[in-house]
Amino acid sequence: MVESDTSKLPKEELANLKNYADGLLKTVREPLLVLTVNQNVVAYNTNFEKKFKISEKEEGVSVFNFNQKQLDTAEFREILEELQNGEKSISDRIVALQFSENTKKKFSVNASLLSLPATNPLILLSFKRLKSTGRLSRQEKVFNRIVDNILSNAPAAICILRGPEHTFEVANENYLKLIGNRNIIGKTVKEALPEVGNQGFIDLLDTVYSTGEPYIGNELAINLQDKKGEFKNSFLNFVYEPTRNKKGKIDGVFVHAIDVTEQVLARKKIEENEDRLKEVIDAVPAIIWITNDQGESTFLNKNWYSYTGQKVEAAKVFGWLETIHPEDYDGAKASFLEAQKERKPYSSTFRLQSAKGDYRWVIDKGSPRFDANGEYEGMIGTVIDVHDEKIKENLVREKEHRMQGIVKEATVATAIYTGIDMNIELANDAMLKLWGKDTSVIGKRLAQALPELDGQPFLELLRNVYRTGETYWGKEDKVDLLIDGEMQTGFYNFTYKPLRDKNGEIYGILNMAIDVTESVKSKMLLKESEFHFRQMADLMPGMVSKTDARGNDIYFNKNWLDFTGQASESLKKIGWVEFIHPDEKQTYLEAWENCLDTGCDLEMQLRLKNKEGKYIWHLSRCEAVKEDDGSIKMWIAANTEIDKIKEEEKRKEEFLKMVSHELKTPVTSIKGYVQLLLSLLKKQEEAEASNLPLKPSLERINHQVSRLTRLISEILDLSRIRENQLELKKEEFNLNELVAETIQDINYTNTQHKIDLESEVQAMVVADRDRIGQVIINLIINAIKYSPGSLNINVKIVKKASDKIKVIIKDYGIGISTENHKKIFKRFYRVGVKSEETYSGFGIGLYLANEIMERHNGEIEVKSKLGEGSEFSFILDAAQITS
Ligand code: ADP
Repeated sequence: MVESDTSKLPKEELANLKNYADGLLKTVREPLLVLTVNQNVVAYNTNFEKKFKISEKEEGVSVFNFNQKQLDTAEFREILEELQNGEKSISDRIVALQFSENTKKKFSVNASLLSLPATNPLILLSFKRLKSTGRLSRQEKVFNRIVDNILSNAPAAICILRGPEHTFEVANENYLKLIGNRNIIGKTVKEALPEVGNQGFIDLLDTVYSTGEPYIGNELAINLQDKKGEFKNSFLNFVYEPTRNKKGKIDGVFVHAIDVTEQVLARKKIEENEDRLKEVIDAVPAIIWITNDQGESTFLNKNWYSYTGQKVEAAKVFGWLETIHPEDYDGAKASFLEAQKERKPYSSTFRLQSAKGDYRWVIDKGSPRFDANGEYEGMIGTVIDVHDEKIKENLVREKEHRMQGIVKEATVATAIYTGIDMNIELANDAMLKLWGKDTSVIGKRLAQALPELDGQPFLELLRNVYRTGETYWGKEDKVDLLIDGEMQTGFYNFTYKPLRDKNGEIYGILNMAIDVTESVKSKMLLKESEFHFRQMADLMPGMVSKTDARGNDIYFNKNWLDFTGQASESLKKIGWVEFIHPDEKQTYLEAWENCLDTGCDLEMQLRLKNKEGKYIWHLSRCEAVKEDDGSIKMWIAANTEIDKIKEEEKRKEEFLKMVSHELKTPVTSIKGYVQLLLSLLKKQEEAEASNLPLKPSLERINHQVSRLTRLISEILDLSRIRENQLELKKEEFNLNELVAETIQDINYTNTQHKIDLESEVQAMVVADRDRIGQVIINLIINAIKYSPGSLNINVKIVKKASDKIKVIIKDYGIGISTENHKKIFKRFYRVGVKSEETYSGFGIGLYLANEIMERHNGEIEVKSKLGEGSEFSFILDAAQITS
């Protein structure tokens, strides 16, 4: 701005101008001020003087210094500046001027540049007072209040701009709030809101003002300063509506603005999010699609187009279906449409044509979308290429199918369980038979299908295999199964083998089982029979042993161990053959070898060495135990002690020798006497001699015959006893008489020995008189026979108890050693067998005596010492004893 000074105008010039000015002023009524182009006051009229209360003439001074700088305002300076810049006239420019501290008055200023001939132009300014509110008419006031009311209650920001400069005439609270409650009334838009000057709004206002065409702005961005002077971006929906005066001339602009900043920002955010979402969707390595509630495709991400090579237009609505393999087309379409109709999740696997033209397997999955009110909006879904997996899966499925076929046909019971719950995925017929169940168990949990497994260890074992991945081998495990409504126990060999997927994760268990019940049961039976065998073998009196098929010792019974004094193991090590007497060993081994070759039985007598080193005779029998097919399973050998039998046999032999010897004597003697008697009889015939020794010869014959008779009857008794046919003919008799008679009989033939009888009591007994007599004879004859050096024999009858009578026969002969006291009562036993020549006999006398006494419930005993004589006695029940 140029601040001119009057001093710069020549005096004449100024006077000239003053003349003009004065002339102008005189004719005009409203306040008027005239300035030079240099903005110095040239003149003013009286009205001006009055209105502006000019007390003292002030001319030639700068208008801005004039009247206490009353006119130094921005608006006023602007007017002058415009004129200076070549503007010819300015009209109706509102200028507010300060009159006192509290009073500001508004004027509508019109200005024009007045060109003058031959001199500088003048600036002419007229001031028209604008009516302040305070001075409004009552009617106007009421009207204004109504307007105010409407405006303040309106939800929009409203203001009225007056005049071509767009001076704020009125603005409601919303508007004030919008512009940061700045003091705007009476100011032009440019003044009040300097920041909007270059945002195009003033141009818009100007256009509306000049054309009368309203302007509707939608979401226009505006940058406004708030009260604190900070800039803020807002978005406004607004209307600029021209207002007209009574004459229909445009006099202002009605502004109606709605702050839509929040909505716009929110929408922008959504749009931004949507954009970002679209970016994300496009970046996802999958195909994503969206359909509307009609099932029509509304969106497909970039991947779809690059995958299929389809054009955007071609894919729209149902166009995308065209890329499906013709064979899969109908199925896929139907499945999609059904899901769309039912508004439920959709999934379909089909072949999709790729951009290259080949078909690849994909999984197309979608879910229904519903808005906040639950209204169906369509679907959103993905398409994923699973071609490689599908091919692999097909291969696996084929393999699995083949495997399942094999398993199903397999005779080995097989089942597959999946998951930790052991769902029965597969169980072949053999397994179902083993379980005693039908196909209804397939698909169930094992625990549910076979509830009887509760309490048995198998479910836990399975879970353990599932957890650890370690295969379990069951060997002859006992399993209780409910078959045909009955709990049955079986034994099985089985495996629980973990099944792994391609990632090595365990997904199930393969169970294969073989029923070994029969074999276990027969093994158990075998064990039992083995036990019984051993028990029996131990109880048997003989020595029993067992060898395997090749003859290796595997078992010896207790008798064997007792006999050899060896423990089982050491006996096995040594081998029982080592205990065979060397004389029989070779023969035995040869026979045994032969048996092992041929499987024939073996029987042989041999001597075995006992723990004391003594050889004992045994009958050794060995027999092969054969399998059904005839092969040898094992050998069982029994060794029975036959030492005593052997001894007895020996005695028997000796007995026979003696019998023949003993019989020879009386028979030879009888034969001799008979021959003698015959020759004597012949001589008698010849010589008739009378004193032939017939009597003594006949007595001898008689003696020998009675000896023979006794011998024969004893042998007979012996066989009777063996056949248990010795019968007693019991009668009551006087024992003392029997003893006396017997001694008398013996004395008759034995004249050398002196037998005396002492009867302490008399006894009646009930017994077989002949047998008791036989006993007495035997005892007395033995006493005679075995006391060749001493001729006295005492027989005594004593009372043993009140009802028992005892007969004692005492000699003073060779006596018997204590060890033989028992043996002499045995059959054929004779002390010092080799001296049979010395004392004739069979060794049956005492045996018979003992047997007879036993049958009478009596007793027989011996008291004797070798070389000191013997005392034999017997005791009988007495029917009566008298002294
Ligand atoms: P034997 O016909 O041998 O006499 P016995 O049975 O009568 O048969 O007697 C058995 C054995 O008992 C005799 O061989 C003998 O050795 C012994 N014996 C029997 N009586 C006597 C005795 N009085 N004194 C010594 N030894 C006797």
